[in-house]
Amino acid sequence: MAERTLAIIKPDAVKKKAAGKIIQRIEEEGFTISALKMLHITKEEAEGFYAVHKDKPFFNSVTDFMSSGPIIVMILEGESAINHWRRVMGKTDPAMAEPGTLRHSYGFDIQFNGMHGSDAPETATFEIGYFFKDE
Ligand code: ATP
Ligand code: MG
Repeated sequence: MAERTLAIIKPDAVKKKAAGKIIQRIEEEGFTISALKMLHITKEEAEGFYAVHKDKPFFNSVTDFMSSGPIIVMILEGESAINHWRRVMGKTDPAMAEPGTLRHSYGFDIQFNGMHGSDAPETATFEIGYFFKDE
């Protein structure tokens, strides 16, 4: 079933100039990029985005990280896009991610892991609305 997911190239991957290679992989995987923008979110916006993690020990540090520099947010469209994109990213911790996944190639550690993907249809709807209010 055609589906939409929110993908983010995180500040670490933008900083290390991996964005082009990540977008190339997205296209090679057959996704349609139906929206894309670069922005630098505030700490408060990062807290709103990661609100589901507000009670986790890493909440403060991950929201500092996500607001530390420019990010690229995209709506990806395709067959089972949510799971497809999560497979291409690989496991949250790059040390556990399979060779060939983007986090294996471009992630540094469990926090500085290069990119984000929605994890379910409900979170995809929330996250797309969070960054693309007009769409
Ligand atoms: P994302 O939601 O960014 O796609 P994910 O779904 O694989 O990643 P989550 O459990 O939702 O992982 O965690 C959200 C983000 O918080 C992670 O991608 C990572 O940047 C950071 N994070 C997760 N676990 C830890 C941890 N133990 N220590 C530090 N940062 C963490
Ligand atoms: Mg997640």
